[in-house]
Amino acid sequence: MNKMVKKSEMVSFATGLTRPSRDEAEAAVRTLIRWAGDDPDREGLAGTPDRVLRAYAEWFGGYGEDPAALLGRTFGESGGYEGMVVLRDIRFVSHCEHHMAPVFGRAHLGYLPRGGRVVGTSKLARLVGLYARRLQIQERLTAQIADALDTALRPEGVAVVLEASHACMATRGVREPGARMVTGRMLGAFRDRPGTRAEFLAAVGLGGRGDAAAGNVFG
Ligand SMILES: [Zn+2]
Repeated sequence: MNKMVKKSEMVSFATGLTRPSRDEAEAAVRTLIRWAGDDPDREGLAGTPDRVLRAYAEWFGGYGEDPAALLGRTFGESGGYEGMVVLRDIRFVSHCEHHMAPVFGRAHLGYLPRGGRVVGTSKLARLVGLYARRLQIQERLTAQIADALDTALRPEGVAVVLEASHACMATRGVREPGARMVTGRMLGAFRDRPGTRAEFLAAVGLGGRGDAAAGNVFG
């Protein structure tokens, strides 16, 4: 068991690559501090490389987690419930792969179970966190969450909408702190049936634009 934990820390599930040593990573942080213009040996910065690495372990913990294992066990006991399952306002923090800057967002997930196969709500939230805690673009994050749910549950359909603000856009470049990016992926019934899609969008507070408009945005 210890071996497995260690392996997941050292090897990335996304790439299969082995990570550099702690010393190498700390040296890289010291280089970036010098690049920014400061002295990595000054008292206030002496512990910073270690703290940055520990922060990275949290921010990028998703590389050590296997989505297939997370969703591997689905629950067949839905009590005959055949309606839409929606979990809205799952908060997440990700990092954009272009600037490694934070992305703050909320995810809304929905699916239509098939054959009574449902998954616990905590697993839905953990799935968002797993993919969010990797370097991402929002479009891929959206697609990965939707596709993982589709593969694991084989439901009638999957809907994923992400709303997020990007620190790289808020603090540099165009400096648009108020802008939020909205991305969506609709599969199966949510893609093919405008009424199902509209029901989902209304449930997550994004409805009201009519079926045609919703289809144009997320179809
Ligand atoms: Zn960026």
